[in-house]
Amino acid sequence: MSPLDLLDIDASLGEEERQIRVVVRQLVDDRVRPHVAGWYEDGQVPARELAREFGKLGLLGMHLAGYGCAGASAVAYGLACLELEAGDSGVRSLVSVQGSLAMYAIWRFGSEEQKQRWLPAMAAGEAIGCFGLTEPDHGSDPGSMATRARRDGDDWVLNGTKMWITNAPIADVGVIWARTDEGVRGFAVPMDTPGVTAREIRRKMSLRASLTGEIALDDVRLPADARLPEAVGLKAPLSCLTEARYGIVWGALGAARDCLETALSYATTRTQFGRPLAGFQLTQAKLADMAVEWNKGLLLALHLGRLADAGKLRPEQVSVGKLNNVREALAIARECRTILGANGVSGEYPVMRHANNLESVLTYEGTSEIHQLVIGQRLTGLSAFA
Ligand SMILES: Cc1cc2nc3c(=O)[nH]c(=O)nc-3n(C[C@H](O)[C@H](O)[C@H](O)COP(=O)(O)OP(=O)(O)OC[C@H]3O[C@@H](n4cnc5c(N)ncnc54)[C@H](O)[C@@H]3O)c2cc1C
Repeated sequence: MSPLDLLDIDASLGEEERQIRVVVRQLVDDRVRPHVAGWYEDGQVPARELAREFGKLGLLGMHLAGYGCAGASAVAYGLACLELEAGDSGVRSLVSVQGSLAMYAIWRFGSEEQKQRWLPAMAAGEAIGCFGLTEPDHGSDPGSMATRARRDGDDWVLNGTKMWITNAPIADVGVIWARTDEGVRGFAVPMDTPGVTAREIRRKMSLRASLTGEIALDDVRLPADARLPEAVGLKAPLSCLTEARYGIVWGALGAARDCLETALSYATTRTQFGRPLAGFQLTQAKLADMAVEWNKGLLLALHLGRLADAGKLRPEQVSVGKLNNVREALAIARECRTILGANGVSGEYPVMRHANNLESVLTYEGTSEIHQLVIGQRLTGLSAFA
């Protein structure tokens, strides 16, 4: 048992949940850990290759049912996110965007034909999806989006720009959100449609082992059946974000665990003033405080997961989890960095990579401030942002 499991939370997991965790942890140990520092440094990741391997294990859209998806529980999906992000937040992002954003949107809002066309291939990792909501001038406020879809006969014609879109540079299908005369609608856009271009965003200092792009839509003509028929209004993309945020509640704890395990191991072997760093009270205070926060975060994730499996999880509860667990994971990563001293800034150790990654995780899928506002609205009954 991990010394980090102060509260014996492991004991409350079911056999299948533990089993999934073991399998994903092994995959991360074999396929991610040995290479990820290099991917991060180079700003490259073999995303297609990884997607196929994740697909073989049923990790893509694993919480969805049918169409080649595994139909796992929300808790099992969360544990998989935790293990993936213990490898790297960028690798977990690949899986989250594929499963919780692109696949979920098609699964929840698509026509039968769209589901048959895309979901089995996406579940297998043969087709990659992305989710285009954010624009250069509209991030936290997607309701103001400028991307337009207008009718031309039976066709739709899309114009606009989407920014910061995970997986875009290699995506086969983009779930693109656009304003129409009737309000916001979603479209399943084959990325090889004339008029679609995806440019990779380089020079990121965070999530470097994840591909991020800008999508330009220039008179993109789509047949009528490209629209996701059940997606009506902004609440459709927001419900997809709730799905993905749920995975982050767990995932962030994975990055934090990897930092904590690294710091624990470092502190017990590194000697200064004639004794291991772990023998100093100040170091133990840091380790104790971080372990307490980590265990609280895991209890929160598990609670939300059990609510999700009972069909009772509400969006503002996911905001509580995303706000707390990412904020605490980032604080843990930074504190662990101090325990490693100068080695903390080295790519030879994973800690600074996780800390840098968590800066993106803090911002995407709703910034911390937006989640505070969601919770504030629930508490006061007053919307401070809409
Ligand atoms: C690596 C990465 C990958 C991403 N992947 C995707 C993706 O796949 N698909 C996608 O659609 N998007 C993606 N995003 C975009 C992400 O969701 C947005 O960056 C995020 O929603 C914030 O938008 P913004 O960056 O425009 O910041 P802004 O909205 O401009 O916000 C800037 C700051 O102002 C604060 N702020 C804004 N409004 C308020 C308010 N009312 N009150 C108080 N403070 C406020 C914010 O909290 C933030 O601190 C990704 C981002 C990153 C970094």
